[in-house]
Amino acid sequence: MKKLLSFLLLLVAAPAIHADADFDACLARLRAEAPAREVSAAAFDRFTAGVAPDPTVLEALDRQPEFVTPIWDYLAALVDEERIDDGRAMLAEWRAVLDKVAAAYGVDAETVVAVWGVESNFGRNFGGRPLVSSLATLSCAGRRQTYFRGEFFTTLRILEAGHVAPERLTGSWAGAFGHTQFMPSTFMRVAVDFDGDGRRDLIDSVPDALASTANYLKRAGWRTGEGWGYEVRLPAGFDAGIAGRKARRPLAEWVRMGVTRVDGAPIAPEATSAAILLPAGVEGPTFVVFRNFNAIYSYNAAESYALAIAHLSDRLRGGGAFATPWPTDDPGLGRRARRELQQLLLDRGHDIGEVDGMIGSRTRAAIALEQTRLGVEANGRAGRKILDALQAGR
Ligand code: CA
Repeated sequence: MKKLLSFLLLLVAAPAIHADADFDACLARLRAEAPAREVSAAAFDRFTAGVAPDPTVLEALDRQPEFVTPIWDYLAALVDEERIDDGRAMLAEWRAVLDKVAAAYGVDAETVVAVWGVESNFGRNFGGRPLVSSLATLSCAGRRQTYFRGEFFTTLRILEAGHVAPERLTGSWAGAFGHTQFMPSTFMRVAVDFDGDGRRDLIDSVPDALASTANYLKRAGWRTGEGWGYEVRLPAGFDAGIAGRKARRPLAEWVRMGVTRVDGAPIAPEATSAAILLPAGVEGPTFVVFRNFNAIYSYNAAESYALAIAHLSDRLRGGGAFATPWPTDDPGLGRRARRELQQLLLDRGHDIGEVDGMIGSRTRAAIALEQTRLGVEANGRAGRKILDALQAGR
């Protein structure tokens, strides 16, 4: 059957056939390598049976961001009322497990739940691509084959050990999977069996996932009982050149320069080092950050990402929004407001697909058309101004 299909495809799409043959040859080479990678030939055959290359993961690998997201848009969607409400519900539902996790790893419940909410929206967004297909494709084509080969064989080892169900193993295009969105190598390094069934299952066991997140942060240098940092007020004339996550100084030194709590109250100069973070320059919210911020940062190596988790954890503890507004007259929208905006665009006849709160290229194109009609800059950005205008029927 496959032969016949190949012949028919050959008539219309010869290059695809060559790619297919290349893939099969590559898979055969990987199979020969399997025993040296601690994967049995039997397991290799079983878990790669019928695997086909997925060209869309190669597109994702080389995709350039077409639109640079301002940090206020990024945070507006990741730390919105829905995620805070959902996070509080998860804190209540998983309280007993989270208390045990905190006792075992020294990481508080709010931080663990905040990571969960940002990584997979509390288990709702795992990513739908079969991991073996994605990683086999990335092992055989594209610019990071050596790295992805390691992840591919590690995936097969996870499956061979029976940690997760093969048919459930889907994830992001790059191979991050489960509640915690760990890469396979991260799984091998830090995933733990917390529900005691002998398997480390980050897909179908919430206790395993929560404990594995805490273990990740612990290994990344988490200090029990310390905060990640807090919003501060900088003295007039503060030199932005001495800020930055890596530019650590004793906290007392920042205090001497005139850095205060955001309400102007003095900072108690504890014997610890800290850095000053300026996510939007000196005009926006500014922060003092400690070691635990770096532990969160190591999860995904992006400061905006780490700030989203840190801020969400504060909101789950009952904290409020940042005291200083972002330096924009057109604030970002949470997912509920994004869906309202999408519905208004649909009502006006724009073909933007589903109302899902995700601002993709079609939504941005429709926004740009409406902005042009309104005579404002057509940047395609989903902000408060365009939502207000459409809501007002303008
Ligand atoms: Ca388990």
